[in-house]
Amino acid sequence: KSVDWEVFVAALVGVEVIVDAAQVAKLSQDYHTFSPILQRQLAGKVGDIVVRPATEAEVLQVAAVCAKYRVPVTVRGAGTGNYGQCVPLHGGVILDMSRMQRIPWIEAGIARLEAGVKLATLDKKARVSGWEIRMAPSTYRTATIGGFIAGGSGGIGSITYGQLRDRGNLLALKVVTIEDEPRVIELRGDDVQKVNHAWGVNGIIIELEIPLAPAYPWVEIIVTFDDFMTAARFGQALGNADGMVKKLITVFASPIPSYFTALRQYIPDKTHAAFLIVAESCLELLPGLIQEYNGKLTYQKSAQDVGKGVNLGEFTWNHTTLHTRSVDPSITYLQSLFPTDKSLQTVEHMFHHFGDEVMMHLEFIRVNGTVIPAALQLVRYTTEERLNEIMRYHEANGVFIANPHTYIIEDGGRKQMDPEQLKFKQMVDPYGLMNPGKIRALMTQ
Ligand code: FAD
Repeated sequence: KSVDWEVFVAALVGVEVIVDAAQVAKLSQDYHTFSPILQRQLAGKVGDIVVRPATEAEVLQVAAVCAKYRVPVTVRGAGTGNYGQCVPLHGGVILDMSRMQRIPWIEAGIARLEAGVKLATLDKKARVSGWEIRMAPSTYRTATIGGFIAGGSGGIGSITYGQLRDRGNLLALKVVTIEDEPRVIELRGDDVQKVNHAWGVNGIIIELEIPLAPAYPWVEIIVTFDDFMTAARFGQALGNADGMVKKLITVFASPIPSYFTALRQYIPDKTHAAFLIVAESCLELLPGLIQEYNGKLTYQKSAQDVGKGVNLGEFTWNHTTLHTRSVDPSITYLQSLFPTDKSLQTVEHMFHHFGDEVMMHLEFIRVNGTVIPAALQLVRYTTEERLNEIMRYHEANGVFIANPHTYIIEDGGRKQMDPEQLKFKQMVDPYGLMNPGKIRALMTQ
């Protein structure tokens, strides 16, 4: 049934509301545009209004009004997600959480913060007492912690701490339900998995507790190589060196670095490159390892210069895709995890098999105690059929694909909805108003 938006807005007295069509359209977007498939599928999907609560009481008020009028709710942080998670399929309210920015406390190794806090803001605050965030997406200057937990997977720091889904990387969550009388529920321990990475379908996250890492002085480094597999093996060797403290090991096959206009002077044409963020304490040993793999150190930014000049992290993870697409918008990407194999045979096979059509971009991460390459390969897109064929070929060869060209949760990285998450959803969202249309398991009901 249609909603009388004037009546709806009147019920939200005291809460910030945006009704301007251009602004609502802008806040109905995210970065699904990296995918030509999603671009087509999500074109023209917009919300009706944007609501911007600033306190828990306001979130409860919004939840009650949405339940009363049975209005779909699409929660958003900074809207940097890549799978259309923030794009409403059925209009309704865009619930912008970015005004919830309090950080109640930061203690030895743990922070409690509201969902709208930007990751970079938390990092800066934590550093004052010698801590920092364990891992962050390359969007950490804009992304919110609520959006990262609900929609992200890992990033800079995952080489040491694994991914967000790993036990111990999220300590507690407070969510608001969407019911006639909304409740506030706090989840701790393994119960956090009921909401972790749930794409805004399992309650409105208002507060979180996350563990922190000791803060190190970090050095940013570029090493170039004449041979791609030697670069990849160097990445694996540095990843395996447990005594060397690091936050990032990225390896790019040529010609990917040539898309990074600001860094061209450090990466000669036709060379492959490793981008590293390592603790200052590694600096004495790193040159030996680089030499062992015939690499050349071409760029180094010291810890004191952090914040000056380019930020190397902002060329890695999905920023690689962003920079490349700004030069050639026909290029898209894959998300994958290579099998555990220290000799990197599958990486080598794919590198040769696809050649320039699928350009290798490796991100080394720790998975269950072992360092393996994840990858966000760049694909010269031709057709949807060919893209699917490329993904199927990877899967047939033991590479796990988290398909970034779908807005259905199960068809992406998850494959199946966790029954515990579905049970929790029925409790916190009995009318099925949260981000409807994104869960396959609920589509036949
Ligand atoms: P949004 O995009 O606003 O939201 C993401 C999801 O979370 C949506 O489903 C939304 O409904 C839900 N959500 C948001 N807030 C809440 C809340 N309070 N309660 C309930 N649900 C909520 N991701 C990575 O994991 N690692 C990377 O390195 C990485 N690099 C990226 C690089 C680029 C250039 C881009 C464009 C994206 C990248 N991403 C990466 C994806 C994205 O930036 C991150 O996942 C980011 O953390 C999302 O934060 P956000 O605040 O923008 O969330």
